[in-house]
This record gives sequence, structure tokens and C-alpha cells, in this order.
Amino acid sequence: MSVQYPTSFMFIAAMNPCPCGFYNHPTIECTCQPGAVQRYLNKISGPLMDRIDLHVEVIPVNYNELSDKKKGESSKTIRERVIKARNIQEERFRNIPNIHCNAQMTTKMVNQYCKLNEECMETLKMAMKKLGLSARAYDRILKVSRTIADLDNSENIEIKHLAEAINFRSLDRENWGK
Ligand SMILES: [Zn+2]
Repeated sequence: MSVQYPTSFMFIAAMNPCPCGFYNHPTIECTCQPGAVQRYLNKISGPLMDRIDLHVEVIPVNYNELSDKKKGESSKTIRERVIKARNIQEERFRNIPNIHCNAQMTTKMVNQYCKLNEECMETLKMAMKKLGLSARAYDRILKVSRTIADLDNSENIEIKHLAEAINFRSLDRENWGK
């Protein structure tokens, strides 16, 4: 049976890149048999993968970087940027009931609020073809581009925002494991 609960949640998951764990490792070679990496990734169905907004490949950090005392951006600064972006989205959907952020947009809203210029359109078309992306991934890319542009306080989606969003679809790519 299926049950619906009134909830809003964030789903975060992690997996190894392949059975041996070293696929794409900078110094250690992956010892998986041909096809094993693709089979391993295929355990997660495409439609499920499509629904995950951000795919982030995490490569190992070497000792020098780990022990580096240089400080990155603080959580406080990032938090402020996120709050600003959420406010932009609240304002964008002010007149639409039950929609508060980009992730909740319907396909129709995506067309309305995620307009791309010519250059971006060409780039997205090329990426879709080259990376073999689905229609669902297409909507995700536009929504994520819109959010990246909001975080950048940019009214329009620019090519750098779109490129970053495309990068977050690394596991859709048919060439993973080839
Ligand atoms: Zn491997």
C-alpha cells in the first residue's frame, strides 16, 4: 500500500563510485572488471537519480590540504547568502499559494521563471545531447540554475550559473564507468 504524509524533507545520500571504491581516484587505480562500475551505478535507477538535485563527486583530500590552516568561507557567511536567496524566492512566489522556493516549481513555472538567453539555450541543448540527460534532468538543471543565480543575487540566469548546474548532474552521464 502507499501512504502519503504531509512532510517536506531533504534527502541526502552517499555511495562509493564503484565496488572497489577507487574509480576516478587521483592516485589509486580502480581494479573493477570492465562493466562493473556501470552495473554498480545502475543499482540506482535513472528515474530515482533524476530526482536528486545535486550530484557531487567527492575526491579524496590529500594530507597537505587536510592540514592546511587556511580558513574557508564561514558557515555564518554562507548562511546569510542562503537566507538572502530564500527571501528572493519567497518574493518571486509571493502570489502563488503553497510555493515558497525554486524546488517547488511546476514545469509551467520553470518555463516562466527560468528563462535562458540564446547562449545558455545552446549550451543546455548541447549538454543534454552530449550527456544523454532526461527531460526530468532538464527541469532540475533549470531549477538549480535559478537557485545558483539567486545565491549570486543575479536577476538573470547566466552561463556560469547554468554551467554549474549542469556539473551537478554527473551521475546522469552515460559515460560514468566507461
Ligand atoms: Zn573500482
